[in-house]
Amino acid sequence: MPECLFCKIAAKQIPSSILYEDDKVVAFQDVSPQAPLHALIVPRKHIPGTLELAEADNALLGHMVQVANRLAREKGVAERGFRLVMNTNAEAGQSVFHMHMHVLGGRPMGWPPG
Ligand code: AMP
Repeated sequence: MPECLFCKIAAKQIPSSILYEDDKVVAFQDVSPQAPLHALIVPRKHIPGTLELAEADNALLGHMVQVANRLAREKGVAERGFRLVMNTNAEAGQSVFHMHMHVLGGRPMGWPPG
């Protein structure tokens, strides 16, 4: 999608602090971190949000969780605990309509989320 922020980041047309990339996903630091580790995992394929996931995307979603686990281990938060978040639509706070997974860790987190 030509005007999509995360498509542009994945294509390196907009700079970001990339933590991991492969042929399916790019992971980079959130520009406004809410925890010591705050990464975003973004599929290279443009999918607006979780509601647009097709059955054929199930492996992609599983891969995103594997990448999240890898980042959590690399950043030393896997055993302490970390949180994966995917916001869908307005009341959940989705602001970028290219599906992404937040990986948050490195501090205690409350529940329920705000
Ligand atoms: P969400 O509100 O769930 O859609 O999450 C979007 C996230 O993208 C927010 O946490 C923003 O801080 C983050 N964000 C927005 N623009 C950028 C950018 N240029 N680079 C990195 N993260 C960004």
